[in-house]
Amino acid sequence: MTASIIDGKAIAAGIRADIAAIVPTLPAQPALAVVLVGDDPASQVYVTSKGKMTREVGMRSIEIRLPKETSEAELLKQVEALSADPSVDGILVQLPLPKHISEPRILAAIDPLKDVDGLTEASAGKLVLGKPGLRPCTPTGCVILAQTIRPILEGANVVVIGRSILVGKPSALLFLEKNATVTLAHSKTRDLRMLCRGADIIVAAVGRPEMVKGDWIRPGAIVIDVGTNRVPAPEKGEGKTKLVGDVAFAEAVETAGAITPSPGGVGPMTIACLLRNTVLAACARRGWDVPDTLR
Ligand code: NAP
Repeated sequence: MTASIIDGKAIAAGIRADIAAIVPTLPAQPALAVVLVGDDPASQVYVTSKGKMTREVGMRSIEIRLPKETSEAELLKQVEALSADPSVDGILVQLPLPKHISEPRILAAIDPLKDVDGLTEASAGKLVLGKPGLRPCTPTGCVILAQTIRPILEGANVVVIGRSILVGKPSALLFLEKNATVTLAHSKTRDLRMLCRGADIIVAAVGRPEMVKGDWIRPGAIVIDVGTNRVPAPEKGEGKTKLVGDVAFAEAVETAGAITPSPGGVGPMTIACLLRNTVLAACARRGWDVPDTLR
């Protein structure tokens, strides 16, 4: 069997197109604020790309770039000001923050109604309690991608590998919310291969290049590869590198029924879901009807 490829780029572009169609119909233009502290090159790229895509769908983008020496008190002030500003619908603080700043303290200053990254304690609590709220972007992307192949997740056996606050744990809870039967695996899990062999859907969020092998996958299973790992690529020339996922794609594609590539799978969904959350946040906070396409 050769798996069908779940084209995250195209699916994400479709979501952005839906949002671009919705924005002009809203009573006011939603605004997304992204705060970056420091000069980490990867974070700079993410923030630039978030700003660009926010503008492309017709929303207002506020980019706040602060030097790496910014104190926790200064950053808190910025975030509190955005939380208090009625014209701002979504706030994202790009992580990781420099070591001298407490991430939990900063996240706690984000108005939960504007928590479009879904990472505050308030949003995490709502997810655990099954209450409506803003859900984290990358995990939401994983569920949407799986549903392009299996729209009804009820009864599916899902193995999520990785239990980070950012990806693994919320992914498990989101699949559970869809009535899937979820196993949350981690570094202390025994016989991960056998566990994965029983899964209808595998979500790999480990950060270990090509750890999930072809023979871990039940024929026909759906594989969502969250991992993005930079590895040496001597075949491209001396000192060159490339990105690979947590799944050994060339093997997995022979066994799986459907699989996301990495890059080009989950990655593009994260920003699309961020923009979607910004519209949802604007609707909830400003009392607007949620557009049908986003329900
Ligand atoms: P993380 O915080 O480092 O968590 C990794 C998880 O994998 C941990 O729960 C760890 O278990 C588990 N793990 C490590 N080794 C394992 C093993 N041998 N067997 C089973 N589980 C193992 O990483 P993360 O932030 O969740 O990110 C995971 C990957 O997703 C990374 O490659 C990251 O770059 C990528 N990512 C992509 C996106 C995107 O595409 N938009 C967004 C976020 C992250 P313990 O808890 O027991 O240590």
